[in-house]
Amino acid sequence: KIKVRFAPSPTGNLHVGGARTALFNWLYARKVGGKFVLRVEDTDTARSTRESEEAMKEDLRWLGLDWDEGPDVGGDNGPYRQSERAQIYKEYVDQLVAKGVAYPCFCTDEELEAMKKEAEEKKLPPIYRGKWSSASKEEVDAMLASGATCCYRFRVPPGKEIFIDDIVRGRVTWNTDTLGDFVILRSNGLPVYNFCVAIDDALMGITHVLRAEEHLPNTLRQVLIYQALNFTPPAFGHMSLILAPDKSKLSKRHGATSVGEFKQQARAALRGTGNGGAGLRRLPAAAPCLRQGGVAGLRSGGFLAPAMVNYLSLLGWNDGTEKEIYSVDELQTAFALERITKSPAVFDRVKLSWMNGQHLRALPEEELLGRIGAALVADGVVTSPDSAFAKALAGLVKGSVELLTDCAAQARPLLSYPLAETVASEEFKPFLEDNFAEVAQAVVAASDSGELAAAVAAGHDGYKKWVNSVGKAQKRKGKRLFMPMRVAFTGRMQGPDVGDLLPALA
Ligand code: GLU
Repeated sequence: KIKVRFAPSPTGNLHVGGARTALFNWLYARKVGGKFVLRVEDTDTARSTRESEEAMKEDLRWLGLDWDEGPDVGGDNGPYRQSERAQIYKEYVDQLVAKGVAYPCFCTDEELEAMKKEAEEKKLPPIYRGKWSSASKEEVDAMLASGATCCYRFRVPPGKEIFIDDIVRGRVTWNTDTLGDFVILRSNGLPVYNFCVAIDDALMGITHVLRAEEHLPNTLRQVLIYQALNFTPPAFGHMSLILAPDKSKLSKRHGATSVGEFKQQARAALRGTGNGGAGLRRLPAAAPCLRQGGVAGLRSGGFLAPAMVNYLSLLGWNDGTEKEIYSVDELQTAFALERITKSPAVFDRVKLSWMNGQHLRALPEEELLGRIGAALVADGVVTSPDSAFAKALAGLVKGSVELLTDCAAQARPLLSYPLAETVASEEFKPFLEDNFAEVAQAVVAASDSGELAAAVAAGHDGYKKWVNSVGKAQKRKGKRLFMPMRVAFTGRMQGPDVGDLLPALA
């Protein structure tokens, strides 16, 4: 039975790299009908916080990555927080000591420092060469009886080749001579990370460890611990780094890299910016908009979780074809460990936004309009997403919007009326000289008489007919008719089809 895990250290936010690791493990588990375990690696008590754990779980839930065992949901192999497993680690240290594979080391910091210096001078690898690896039982017992503090070290077998057949990188081989007897339990009683990981993966029955490449050097220690305890090591797959478009390591200066920040962008939009835009109608607020647009939809605002999942899935994986847009269901079927790539992946925000636009436009029309409407409400452009006004606006931006948080910025210019500037512009001069006011007057007159409203109500063709009748009366056609008409209605010389715009403006 396949079992994989995501084992974050709760010392900050869930970042793109961690989310990718979680996703690949989850996809594999879901594809093969295996189990996905969430394990919280909080042995670094100084840096781990419960808030960080909660935030990471919230982000995983937002992405739709549910775990079969772990904090909150339980399971047969708990507890799932390393800080609650101290007793288990202690037992295994004792076992290793009883087998002679681990031993207490009473070296002081000064002694260790001196050893390090000596190794440096003699250009030897900086490994432990202290006396406690070969101390007699009497010596050790005497020290223990004296109450001296000690750490516990793992006795590394000398001159041994250790290898793994990494799912992503192929055979990776180490020589144990590069590794000194390493600490597994610190003198303050806290177990060391590499020890906990090996014990937990073994006891939790993890069959595949899929994690970031930076953990590859840890694997040697972990495999040695497995072997010493007669556990079967899992299969390992180390995924390549995620780089920024300039091929440097992805970092803060490349903008948002944590999943939380992507959600945050949505929240900023939710705060709203008041009823911006000139001449907006205030419509009665309608509660159903929240239900329809979905609070969850609002929460994720700018980015759709399935788009984020789709984008993350392509950071170091492809199905061998050109296909890029996947639903989460499709990914669960298509995902294959053999197709995880070895070369670094590039996190490209522009591509992510584009992909979000694709996912938005793949939504059923009603849902798309509902979501855009909700985003317009959130940003204070409209008060209800259900009004004809909101629907018309949504229809105008739906073809170009990439992030839901862009809707307001795309809709507002459609609603503003920069007539004075346009009329004063060089490009408009020919129309001004052509007595633009005639057309404007026809618009005002038709608006006052209700003729215009009737024409717009009759749909696109109704409006077209009306425009043509004005053209006939004033002996204008083509650009001479349409441009002043557009400017009269919108105040600007570019924009969507006026016939499409009118329901939103009328
Ligand atoms: N806790 C480690 C981290 O957050 C992951 C360890 C592992 O996957 O083996 O980087």
